[in-house]
Amino acid sequence: MVVIHWTATSTLASALATLRPEVLSGRADIRSGGRLNVGAHFLVDRDGTVYRLQNETTLARHVIGLNRSAIGIENVGSGSLTAEQLRADTALVADLKARYPIEYLIGHFESQRFMGSPLWEERQPGYLTHKSDPGEAFMKALRRALAAWGLRLKSAP
Ligand SMILES: [Zn+2]
Repeated sequence: MVVIHWTATSTLASALATLRPEVLSGRADIRSGGRLNVGAHFLVDRDGTVYRLQNETTLARHVIGLNRSAIGIENVGSGSLTAEQLRADTALVADLKARYPIEYLIGHFESQRFMGSPLWEERQPGYLTHKSDPGEAFMKALRRALAAWGLRLKSAP
């Protein structure tokens, strides 16, 4: 699957400063899950420039429960993302879908729909955070742009 995020930071520099270290700092809310820093495979700046932060076949810590099956795309910003980011995310997800057997496209805020599915791999009871990124409007627009690709939101019951 692909999971879409926003960084909750306003600049590329601050996003990179958060994502670059290997070891987590701060983040009392997820510290119990291990010392590996949060990360993502791609970071999309406000102007739509895509930065590849790591190989998409290696694990990044970006979504509780689904990290082993999820490619993470972070978008610089919080609250609202840009038209340039929508265009970039659309092209990036289409490219990933063409290269990998991706079934699902979700926003971070939708991740807990997968609890109880075979893809959900969290074993620590109560290890959850509440997320709203990247907002319902952005996911709706992204799904509209990618409608032809047949990506799903949720696994079959
Ligand atoms: Zn997120």
